[in-house]
Amino acid sequence: MKSYEQIFLANREWSQSKLIKDPNYFKRLSLNQSPQYLWIGCSDSRVPANEVTGTGAGELFVHRNIANQVFSTDKNFMSVLKYAVDYLKVEHIVICGHYGCGGVKAAMSDLQDEHITPWINGIKKTAECNKDTLNQIKDETTKINSMIEINVIEQVDRLYNNPIVRAAWARGHHLHIHGWIFDLETGELSTLKEVNPDELPLDIYNNQETLVN
Ligand SMILES: [Zn+2]
Repeated sequence: MKSYEQIFLANREWSQSKLIKDPNYFKRLSLNQSPQYLWIGCSDSRVPANEVTGTGAGELFVHRNIANQVFSTDKNFMSVLKYAVDYLKVEHIVICGHYGCGGVKAAMSDLQDEHITPWINGIKKTAECNKDTLNQIKDETTKINSMIEINVIEQVDRLYNNPIVRAAWARGHHLHIHGWIFDLETGELSTLKEVNPDELPLDIYNNQETLVN
């Protein structure tokens, strides 16, 4: 049997197992979605969003790319963010990086690729800004993992300044931002940085003019 044929068999087993527990499972799921979380993760095959969070269908709205990056110039990302925040009204945005990230590793190497290199250029710039800290770390794996953490924090900071997020806060939308890291060796998630909407400067709630583009 071909490997992709195995996937269809596994799919039928999965759908049947859901129906045995709840005959209306798919009917109900097909009606609408109301996830509480927008998950922004790396495309890495070892960090499946639903599996590592123990969530099921309908619980995470997902955007993934190489090295879990957010750019306000990325139409794909911005449309996902807009839909999640303004239409689905999620209450949590998770940026999840992972140790051993190949995208961050590539950004710290001399890789030249017409498509990948421009995408990871922002990480190269962040590494340059943090070179004094990074150069103090002698072990290469530890240095890369440190940059992986810095990259997650950088993306949280970008989200904090994102116009869609700022507009949501200005409207009083109770939106949390979480910067998380997944450890491939232990399977555990940990928090690196959080933005709690209860602790924002008051002008973010009151002044639309604080919007940053
Ligand atoms: Zn990765």
